[in-house]
Amino acid sequence: MADTQWRTHRLELDDQTLREWDAVVLASGAGSPGEPGGIVLDRSAFYPGGGGQPPDHGVLLWGGVQTRIEGVRKGDDLYLIPADGDPVPPPGTTVRGAVEDERRAALMRTHSGLHVLCGVVFRDFGALVTGGNMEPMTARMDFNLPAVPDGFRQAVEGACNAELAADRRIDVRVLPREEAFALPDIIRTATNLVPPEVKDVRIVDIVGLDQQADGGTHVASTRQVGRIQVVKVENKGKGFRRLRIQISG
Ligand SMILES: [Zn+2]
Repeated sequence: MADTQWRTHRLELDDQTLREWDAVVLASGAGSPGEPGGIVLDRSAFYPGGGGQPPDHGVLLWGGVQTRIEGVRKGDDLYLIPADGDPVPPPGTTVRGAVEDERRAALMRTHSGLHVLCGVVFRDFGALVTGGNMEPMTARMDFNLPAVPDGFRQAVEGACNAELAADRRIDVRVLPREEAFALPDIIRTATNLVPPEVKDVRIVDIVGLDQQADGGTHVASTRQVGRIQVVKVENKGKGFRRLRIQISG
């Protein structure tokens, strides 16, 4: 959320279903040794990465050619990283941006699945999240959980899939900071993660299960996640458990 200085308007924060849009190139460079390149757009729906969710891939179409986008670089601006050797549109060019749907859809399902896991483990076992990471359809999440009760893995998996079957709505809204931090759930997950200068906080609310301050992209309801398999529970040291999950269906 430390992106307030970027010139790029973040379209994906308002519309997680948007896959194609028009934009104008504000700055660009192919890059050279010691000087990373990148393309700055006035508007972009490429998720730049953050909160454990990796950046989107996709293309920019312009002048009869395409520039494949393989990642982002976060600096004084939000730079889209072109594939090696692809043509780079000069500043002022109007481009058609497109996010690769298959990867993004998988990441949205995975990210929402992780929030379901987080909600279930807090509700049923009182454990707080200490970290996490995801790739399309696979993820890990770390919890502060001193003891692992018998049948923990199966219990978590069963409860997660019950929440997916319940088809809970997943709402995204932006609240003023004071209002956001008045929500009890938010305090447990994010108080220390949101820099003090951030005035508006984006909340991802799995209605009735889990609310978090979050900048990621999510599916509209839990049924769209599919199924969650808890593949492994690892003991990573004193009170520190790592759960590995896979999404399917
Ligand atoms: Zn998240």
